[in-house]
Amino acid sequence: MRLGAIEAGGTKMVLGVFDKALNSLAQTSLPTTVPEETIPQMVSFFKEHKVDALGIATFGPINLRASSKGFGTILNTPKLAWQRYPLLNAFEEALQVPCEVDTDVNAAALAESALGAAKGLQNCLYFTVGTGIGGGLYCEGQLVHGLMHPEWGHVLLSRHEEDPMLHGVCPYHPNCAEGFASGPSMQTRWGLPAKDLSEDHRGWDLEAFYLGQLCANALMTVSPEVILLGGGVMHQSALLPLVRQYMLKFVNGYIDSEQLPPMEDYIKAPALWPDSGLIGAALLAKKAYNKSIQ
Ligand code: ADP
Ligand code: ZN
Repeated sequence: MRLGAIEAGGTKMVLGVFDKALNSLAQTSLPTTVPEETIPQMVSFFKEHKVDALGIATFGPINLRASSKGFGTILNTPKLAWQRYPLLNAFEEALQVPCEVDTDVNAAALAESALGAAKGLQNCLYFTVGTGIGGGLYCEGQLVHGLMHPEWGHVLLSRHEEDPMLHGVCPYHPNCAEGFASGPSMQTRWGLPAKDLSEDHRGWDLEAFYLGQLCANALMTVSPEVILLGGGVMHQSALLPLVRQYMLKFVNGYIDSEQLPPMEDYIKAPALWPDSGLIGAALLAKKAYNKSIQ
């Protein structure tokens, strides 16, 4: 069995082929331009590798309501050429193999739960903190979609009173997680890309203040057994310990230490990162294949 996997991002598409045991057989990437150009290139790659099923882990928002007509169609993305693009349909028609689609972060949560830092757990929340902020939720052994899919990046947060930024970078919300804590928000606030801020820059404490709130809100709402933090901004190794401290500060003892694991075990780096999304896509392909032979 040859499993095709796509991690569809706003700047690049990562394509992979895996065997049944999830060993990588081939991998490539290409820039995300417009569907008319990018999709045929991707289709050729998977035809050449003769995949038996395809999993797509994509940027959102995307319609994931299985009962609706537009299932698998990209929604209101700032990448205008991709708005209303029927991503799932395009591959089903071109490849004629079973296909399955989910968000990139849900796929990452699935991969980490199956093989990575949340192995053996039934409830895992995976956050990415990069150009945007997103979260994927694996809950009681299932990926959560609900009405559409959760939008963790747009959860509203309290602004730090000393934050030099009055209004976050999100065009929709003055005070959401993505607006205050994404990579671009750090760049707007400090005039330097997040990757160029020194380890002792005060921006990291502020970043942890926001991510700590996000994690505390997640703990209070969906009660994950573990929270994984991936994405480019998390490359700054000083950040993770600060996020743990802030989460505890915001929880403020309400959930006691008998219930809560030690913070090093509760808020962690993903184990498969940066491949969590692609491996998750391969698992989606496997799921699609298994469904098709039932
Ligand atoms: P995307 O979200 O587009 O997939 P990434 O997850 O790589 O991309 O995130 C990109 C963001 O991560 C940028 O804002 C960049 O400044 C930031 N970043 C990349 N490397 C580092 C680093 N070493 N330390 C802190 N931030 C980083
Ligand atoms: Zn927002």
